[in-house]
Amino acid sequence: MIDVHVPVLVVGGGGAGLTASMLLSTYGVEHLVVSAMPTTSVLPKAHVLQQRAMEVLRDVGCAQRVYQAGTPRENMSHTAWYLDVAGSDFAGRLISKMECWDGGGADPAWVAASPCRQANLPQIRLEPLLKQRAEELNPGGVRFGNELVALEQDDSGVVATITDRGTGRQYRVRCEYLIGADGGRTVGTLLGVGMDGLRDVMRTVSIHMSADLSPWLHDPEVLIRWIVHTRYGGAFSVLVPMGPDSWGPDSEEWVVHMNFPPELEEQFDTDEKVLAVMRDRLGIPDFDPKVHMITRWSVEGLLATTTTIGRVFLVGDAAHRHPPTGGLGLNSAIHDVYNLCWKIAHVAQGKAGPALLSTYHPERYPSFARNTQRSIENALNHLAIIDALGVKPDLDAETCHDNVLELWDEGPVGHERRVAVAGVLASQSMEFKEHNVEYGFRAESSAVLTDGTPEPVNEDDVRIYQPGTRPGSPLPHAWVERTGERRALREVAPPTHWMLMAGEDGAAWCAAAVTAGAARGIDLAAFRVGHVGGDWLDPRLAFVRVHEFGRSGAILVRPDRVVAWRSFTPDGDPLARIGAALDRVLTRAG
Ligand SMILES: Cc1cc2nc3c(=O)[nH]c(=O)nc-3n(C[C@H](O)[C@H](O)[C@H](O)COP(=O)(O)OP(=O)(O)OC[C@H]3O[C@@H](n4cnc5c(N)ncnc54)[C@H](O)[C@@H]3O)c2cc1C
Repeated sequence: MIDVHVPVLVVGGGGAGLTASMLLSTYGVEHLVVSAMPTTSVLPKAHVLQQRAMEVLRDVGCAQRVYQAGTPRENMSHTAWYLDVAGSDFAGRLISKMECWDGGGADPAWVAASPCRQANLPQIRLEPLLKQRAEELNPGGVRFGNELVALEQDDSGVVATITDRGTGRQYRVRCEYLIGADGGRTVGTLLGVGMDGLRDVMRTVSIHMSADLSPWLHDPEVLIRWIVHTRYGGAFSVLVPMGPDSWGPDSEEWVVHMNFPPELEEQFDTDEKVLAVMRDRLGIPDFDPKVHMITRWSVEGLLATTTTIGRVFLVGDAAHRHPPTGGLGLNSAIHDVYNLCWKIAHVAQGKAGPALLSTYHPERYPSFARNTQRSIENALNHLAIIDALGVKPDLDAETCHDNVLELWDEGPVGHERRVAVAGVLASQSMEFKEHNVEYGFRAESSAVLTDGTPEPVNEDDVRIYQPGTRPGSPLPHAWVERTGERRALREVAPPTHWMLMAGEDGAAWCAAAVTAGAARGIDLAAFRVGHVGGDWLDPRLAFVRVHEFGRSGAILVRPDRVVAWRSFTPDGDPLARIGAALDRVLTRAG
């Protein structure tokens, strides 16, 4: 017997599931969220929220709450490496400091890329905000303490068995589509999906605690502190402030991550041992924090063998798991559901053929693979840094200490060492300036019509984001204006809408697009953008400079703000051309 019928069931109330829920509500899709635990995450875990993820949260009316609760700009412009924390005359010495992300607004490339700035808010504080917004948008449709325990599907739908963990009652939900956002715990396993890749590359133990570290820390602009320990060759610790009110050295809460090789597991197998190692690493023997949680996790790089199984779609950690270095886990989870949910909405609402859903996997999978590779490389490069500093597992503490202190030698030895180390340290900007890992994706599937142009050459495919309108690219950002009104280009139309953007002389494209959209029952806004003329003016030529399609060309932009189609010329019948493009992307018979 079926107890609940709903078009979409979302399994998992973490960052992926709650964002999926907010998007589905925004797109007008009835759905239910079930999440196994009674509460949102009790672990701080992810904290970095990139610009595109914030754009998505802005679409669903949640970004402002995240900025308000999150780290102020002035406490997140840099990351830095230090020699120990306390316990010696040299402890706390700054080895190197690096600007990260938008540098607190100082990096013009980042400011130009998005209406949103990067944010930082630990998952433990982020998820309650996401849940609150998801519940506002879908009252009664978000059920925590409800666990999916069984799953079956046929050609017409999916039946999920859910246990209400509060009462023990089981009920069955029938849905047309199921989003597996369960962090990889149940849905994939029930459907026989494996995870391939690297396991147990390194171990980490994380301690979340309330503690006053301000006597030993400096540099309020630094968010993530990398601590090099000369007494633990080959190891480092990471200090991350957790707020909630202060985010500099005087942060009320902290997470300390300590890495160790699997063979040293015995030294970390009880909480008492972990705390003893932490005191020793920090060099503060009487350090007595209020410990909230100690967790042990492995650095791994795993990809689901598939992410689409009939009517079930795996997103977030259910589809890809990799180390936090680069902060790509939660951000990618948000990208995943942004790619998927408008497609589910269009198919469920009869605006697109079901084949549109088969474009989720090919469009996202290359990013999963890339993010995994980037995260692992980011993690391993930290080991290369401490190796370059001369802190090696096979050297005794004294030698390691002497090696690091050479950095401050005023003679030629010091100069040589500083030059040698500088390049390795600078390379870590691949983690902290990875702008093109975020925006450089190219959606390739039948939901994007290529125009035969080659991918532009990029001198640094990790760090340099080159905005453009080649189909498959994210829509470039620009602030545009019309009589007293200023909007981000991506927000000229509501998040439910397609957009046709033409050059100043592209009125025929706009008229055709409005007709073509209406004939297919899709929401579509069409407008011209130009510096001097057009429906929206681009005062800084930010879009005109990069859009490439000239005064009489046009682009068609999907609800997830990915360019689906581009024309440089007004050749042919605009109505026929736009109609054909929409039919192909929406996998409808023309
Ligand atoms: C120390 C650390 C730091 C990190 N830092 C960052 C960072 O800065 N930036 C970043 O982007 N990522 C970071 N990550 C990664 C990030 O935490 C994950 O990628 C993210 O939590 C994935 O979100 P998710 O919603 O896919 O899965 P999860 O957060 O794991 O959520 C899964 C949800 O599903 C629920 N669930 C599980 N099984 C069931 C079931 N059978 N039925 C119903 N519900 C179920 C769970 O209770 C949970 O609510 C970090 C991770 C760690 C460990």
